[in-house]
Amino acid sequence: MEHYEVTIVGAGLSGITAARRLHKQGRTNFLLVDKGKSVGGRLATRRVADGKADHGAQFFTVRTDELDEEVQHWLKENWIKHWFGKPYPRYTAVDGMNSLAKHLAKGIRTSLHTKITQIVKYPDGYRLYDDKMNVWKSDKVLLTMPVPQVLELLKASDVQVVHSEMKKLKSILFEPTYVGIYHFRSPTSLPEDGHLDQDLPQGVERVVDHQKKGISNDTLVSVYMNGDWSRRHYGEDYVRTLIKEKVERLFDWSELESEQLKRWRYAQAKKVLHEPYLDLSGDGSLVVAGDAFLRENDEAGRTRFESAYLSGKDAAAYLSW
Ligand SMILES: Cc1cc2nc3c(=O)[nH]c(=O)nc-3n(C[C@H](O)[C@H](O)[C@H](O)COP(=O)(O)OP(=O)(O)OC[C@H]3O[C@@H](n4cnc5c(N)ncnc54)[C@H](O)[C@@H]3O)c2cc1C
Repeated sequence: MEHYEVTIVGAGLSGITAARRLHKQGRTNFLLVDKGKSVGGRLATRRVADGKADHGAQFFTVRTDELDEEVQHWLKENWIKHWFGKPYPRYTAVDGMNSLAKHLAKGIRTSLHTKITQIVKYPDGYRLYDDKMNVWKSDKVLLTMPVPQVLELLKASDVQVVHSEMKKLKSILFEPTYVGIYHFRSPTSLPEDGHLDQDLPQGVERVVDHQKKGISNDTLVSVYMNGDWSRRHYGEDYVRTLIKEKVERLFDWSELESEQLKRWRYAQAKKVLHEPYLDLSGDGSLVVAGDAFLRENDEAGRTRFESAYLSGKDAAAYLSW
């Protein structure tokens, strides 16, 4: 049976950052797994015709020196650029947000299409089971998926957890988000930088033109509905129509080539925890991290790219203590 010191479940930004940190410390016997076909999780970019559209995170902000140091490196590598915003820059990836995740995960042993379905604790460590009936041994496990998915996995698992930490975990709440993706045959009249988040109809959080953003040859637009609207309309058949009605005045719909809808069941945490990770087992062997886990002094107080980055980093430091 294969044996790893650490298995990191979830190759979103938290998991990738944790893996990079372990790698930097000279550790080699760890595995990063994700159920998806690519790394990145909510750093997601979709190809449509001759274009690309980010339909998860659009940009990120930087409040800590730690992330800023990385950002300076990513800028030099030309992986990201300053999209808009002064004095607080909004950075975005030059090739779509998913490409940044791919750059960051390069060189890290990763198993994709691997959904962890059960974790069992034995006296000599954990056994992880995936959806293809593979099983391996791991001394430690770091879970980085959205908290409802962590809870689902724990329910199917046989592990010991500290009651007080479990209670904290259950206090975190996630909200869904609907994103409409539209391909137009001609340019839009959105602002020059392609970003609009002011004076929008109720329920619409943000509208982005990816051609103007600089990542797409074709005119691709993402319309982000806010958490409240998405929760109220979750699972309804006519969501596509409702979103189009909301932004009707912004576009020339006779130029519409195609449309798609992305539904994020767990998009952003509505209720976060002000601890950068949770030690569920109490002995550092089963730890949970992710964007909903904020440092105590977090200035923004909300779930985002930077909170995922810091949580992954702090959890990895704790794991290797
Ligand atoms: C629509 C949308 C817009 C956003 N906009 C912004 C923005 O503009 N700026 C910003 O800063 N942030 C934004 N965010 C938030 C940002 O994307 C997240 O905070 C961050 O990417 C979360 O990273 P993560 O690693 O914590 O989680 P995730 O990216 O969700 O990674 C978790 C991974 O776990 C995997 N997984 C789940 N279950 C299993 C399992 N059982 N086995 C194996 N793998 C599993 C998933 O496939 C996923 O890849 C947005 C998010 C969404 C959804």
